[in-house]
Amino acid sequence: MITMKEVYKRYPNGVVAANGIDIQIDQGEFVYVVGASGAGKSTFIKMMYREEKPTSGQIIVNGVDITKLKNSKVPLFRRNIGVVFQDFKLLPKLTVYENIAFALEVIEESPRVTKKKVMEVLELVNLKHKARMFPNELSGGEQQRVSIARSIVNSPLVVIADEPTGNLDPDTSWEIMRIFEEINARGTTVIMATHNKEIVNTKKHRVIAIENGLIVRDEQRGDYGYEN
Ligand code: ADP
Ligand code: ADP
Repeated sequence: MITMKEVYKRYPNGVVAANGIDIQIDQGEFVYVVGASGAGKSTFIKMMYREEKPTSGQIIVNGVDITKLKNSKVPLFRRNIGVVFQDFKLLPKLTVYENIAFALEVIEESPRVTKKKVMEVLELVNLKHKARMFPNELSGGEQQRVSIARSIVNSPLVVIADEPTGNLDPDTSWEIMRIFEEINARGTTVIMATHNKEIVNTKKHRVIAIENGLIVRDEQRGDYGYEN
């Protein structure tokens, strides 16, 4: 479902963050992306949802070369991709419910269907009882659960997460992982950049290791492989 061919990314300041990446990720896979800070993990991930464009190379997502996508077509393309960030990126003036419904309002879903879908994803992340609260009334783990609910409310084919447990304590991180496992069990591809050695070595999945903008290791049921 995601293929990169000979992908290079050079930022305007001259830093080369992707230095010839070739990869294929199939529908339904769970993939960890590991590597030191500055290795190029975020760049790799951002190129998958057209947050960054590569300098050269092909990136095919669901049959479409997204490097050739017009800017006007990017929002439509992104509906099939859920994104989760380390710092949640919830809208502070909207309630939990509204933060999630927002993703459906932009596609002009009916109020009835919106309510049904929002309640379904709130159920999945176990936060139905906090639908009326605002983000700053929630713990970090709860805010991340809202952000995950938002990422899946459009039923995307893939959820991409950039260090989703980076700001959370160990117990909360495991709870967040349980939700990603559940999402993956329902058939959604999950791609997650992480520094969480414990999680990677315990919940075994494919591991892609990046160093200096290159994939240096790609193993099914791999290990974290760094000392942190
Ligand atoms: P990681 O996620 O593994 O920490 P990044 O993809 O964020 O790695 O960064 C890879 C390299 O690209 C780093 O040297 C970083 O400083 C650089 N970089 C990232 N984003 C930008 C940017 N917008 N402009 C210039 N350099 C950047
Ligand atoms: P955690 O143990 O996950 O860090 P907290 O101790 O931050 O969680 O919060 C415990 C509970 O109290 C959570 O359910 C959270 O929603 C609620 N809570 C925390 N801060 C506030 C607040 N400012 N207003 C209302 N509820 C809050």
